[in-house]
Amino acid sequence: MDTDILFYILHAHLIKFLKAVFFVHELREFYDIVIIGAGPAGLNAGMHIINAGFDKNVLLVDKITPWDHPIACAEGVGKLGFEGSVKVRKSWIRQEIKYARFHAPDGSVISYKDKNGGYIINRALMQKEMASQLESSGIQCLFNFKVLQIQPPDKGLRTVVFENGRKCKARVIIDASGPLCCFGKEEKINSKPGDLEPSYFAWVENIDIEQDHIHIYAGKELAPGGYAWVFPRGENAANIGIVLGRHSVTHANLRVLLDNFLSRHFPSVKIIQRFAGSIPCGFKKVPIAIPGFIKTGDAANTVNPISRAGISEALLCGGLAGDAALKMVGKETNKQLLTICNEYQNEWFKRRGNRHFKLARVKNSLLVVPDEDYNNGTRLLSSIPREELTMSKIFRASLGRFPRLVWALRHLM
Ligand SMILES: Cc1cc2nc3c(=O)[nH]c(=O)nc-3n(C[C@H](O)[C@H](O)[C@H](O)COP(=O)(O)OP(=O)(O)OC[C@H]3O[C@@H](n4cnc5c(N)ncnc54)[C@H](O)[C@@H]3O)c2cc1C
Repeated sequence: MDTDILFYILHAHLIKFLKAVFFVHELREFYDIVIIGAGPAGLNAGMHIINAGFDKNVLLVDKITPWDHPIACAEGVGKLGFEGSVKVRKSWIRQEIKYARFHAPDGSVISYKDKNGGYIINRALMQKEMASQLESSGIQCLFNFKVLQIQPPDKGLRTVVFENGRKCKARVIIDASGPLCCFGKEEKINSKPGDLEPSYFAWVENIDIEQDHIHIYAGKELAPGGYAWVFPRGENAANIGIVLGRHSVTHANLRVLLDNFLSRHFPSVKIIQRFAGSIPCGFKKVPIAIPGFIKTGDAANTVNPISRAGISEALLCGGLAGDAALKMVGKETNKQLLTICNEYQNEWFKRRGNRHFKLARVKNSLLVVPDEDYNNGTRLLSSIPREELTMSKIFRASLGRFPRLVWALRHLM
């Protein structure tokens, strides 16, 4: 190995080690607010806290430094949802998306131009910049600091227990740790991911696709209960993956499905790296906040059950969680705290949750729609020029001809 590279690696490890030792000593005994997770939800909770001018005695922790690792995400967002959830910086946007192309199981294709469009973002950069703003505004940020347990409250304070044996107390905890930690099992709060779906994807190069298109492929053989995606990722590069319905997990091998998809549609791509991830795609109306304990983002099942998008949702819900946490600090009575919990939940349900509830039901009904309906529907709609294809045209054209498809969508009415 080149001595410069060896020196660089040793230096990086030494810095990490020193930081870990140094930070261990910095942990305070008490915080007003502890945020667990430096993903979109936790970071935007922090942004709302500093934007309100509150910067004292807040801790943000993450078990890793997320932007130093590849983030398991296709990084696609709708413009409206994204820009409505966070103050977007230009540097976070890799490219703009104007068209979505739907590929039916038999290969028929329709292109759809969304009037608002979307982006492929650079999540690592977004998260790094948000964290650095939080840190410079006075929020203490500890990375490579894993939370093991959140103990139920004692005199209004919960204890956060870390893997390194350290502990701290907190008046309010925001759990933005993603779908898998299940903190709060001992309390009456949502602690289980709903409808956890496995996904598998690859970063590939040597691919020639339009830079302003995303592609969605459906089919019971290709991705039972889910879909495959192809999102551009700069010139000659893409993010190609598959998400499966939870009920198909036992009889399908994701790696084999992805390899089959790649060899059939993109045989000459070069795979740079593969990733696996889990997406909590269900929606349950269970409490996501109790006095002093707020769940947000994937930890509160905020993913859109049909599109499986969760970035803007996590940002939005994270921001609401930050606002709610601030209101909780300084409130003494259980009644006051419960009111804040209700306001937080109601706001989330109003902004996205109620719709997700309906979409989760649509998703279940879509499972029984045969491939044939998608083929016929796509063939019918492919004759409409993409600039003229609107959602209402899709509905009108499908109505009556594909009753099973329309029946699946009844929950939206
Ligand atoms: C393969 C894949 C592709 C996806 N593609 C898209 C997409 O294109 N568009 C879209 O909108 N959504 C997509 N999603 C969903 C999206 O990634 C999530 O919904 C979003 O990241 C949720 O943000 P969050 O902040 O709630 O959680 P996360 O982003 O998961 O962040 C949680 C953070 O908590 C930290 N953490 C976890 N446990 C602990 C612990 N014990 N102690 C301390 N820290 C901890 C983690 O290290 C992590 O940094 C995709 C998901 C997957 C798996």
